[in-house]
Amino acid sequence: MSPIPHLVAPSATFRTPIPDPNNPRAGDWVRAWDGHEDLSQIDLAIIGAPLSRASLSHSGAYLLPSAIRQTLLDFSTYDSERDVDLAPLRVRDIGDIALDLLDVRASHEHIRTALHALDALAPLVMTLGGDHSITKPALVARAAVAGMPIGLVQFDAHHDVRVLDGGPNNGTPIRGAIEAGAIRGEDVAQIGIHAFANSVVYADWAREAGIGIHTMPAVRRRGILPVLADALAQARQAPGGVYVTVDMDVLDRSQAPGCPASGPGGLMIWDLADALYVLGQQPDLVGIDFVEVDPQRDVANMTVKATCLAILSFCAGRLRATERGGSGAN
Ligand code: CA
Repeated sequence: MSPIPHLVAPSATFRTPIPDPNNPRAGDWVRAWDGHEDLSQIDLAIIGAPLSRASLSHSGAYLLPSAIRQTLLDFSTYDSERDVDLAPLRVRDIGDIALDLLDVRASHEHIRTALHALDALAPLVMTLGGDHSITKPALVARAAVAGMPIGLVQFDAHHDVRVLDGGPNNGTPIRGAIEAGAIRGEDVAQIGIHAFANSVVYADWAREAGIGIHTMPAVRRRGILPVLADALAQARQAPGGVYVTVDMDVLDRSQAPGCPASGPGGLMIWDLADALYVLGQQPDLVGIDFVEVDPQRDVANMTVKATCLAILSFCAGRLRATERGGSGAN
């Protein structure tokens, strides 16, 4: 029996039909977990949480884990920008979390229990949504393993602090995690908040909770890395380490047409990739997720490809942080 409850095999697996050993593909480099390998010996576990029933608007975000698995075959393992080859990084695809077809709360409980088990086994877990509601059970699971509140760096166009009167949805995960005690508002930093995408009431709620808000003009004026340094400092006030959630709707709509809620004036993919490369190098990172991409609404796979680039940039940072990654330029 699997040590991870509710685990199912990926709905499909993808491999390069004619592999070239001189040009390995990222999709082949991520190996499926065999169910037996000691996960404490790997560097990164990737698991799908294909839930989109909790989305406020119609969403096919449940398709993202599978789309990522397929699209990683379009990428090599070599990061030319940073002269890092990902080959030595031990990344395993754990599979997907089986969800309840009708009940969001039951699905969240599956996600929470599966991630609680995986968080306790693997040194670092990357969760692929799904809509943004999955971040709440992910944060609750991670804080429970830490035994204390954790900090949060959130890339997002939105605050995600809506009221929970109608149950959890993709507009509530941050408020839900604060109310559950997994995170404290003063340890949350939001990067990329868009104009005309939020309300006064929820912006005030976020400010009063102590959440650090870094809007898109602040990112453009200061640059992504100084903003990220401030966000990390805030998240590090928490005793249990830093979790990162990446809502891909933080990107400009020209680069993320597959996110139903992306808008104009958003983040550029190269800024997100640079930030994730830095975050990958942080030793106190305790988890990361990518959410809110609907492959069905994507254009020319642009948003899925942007998500792959963000994931691989994070992995490059992770490898750089290990001895196997060397000590070259950042
Ligand atoms: Ca969000």
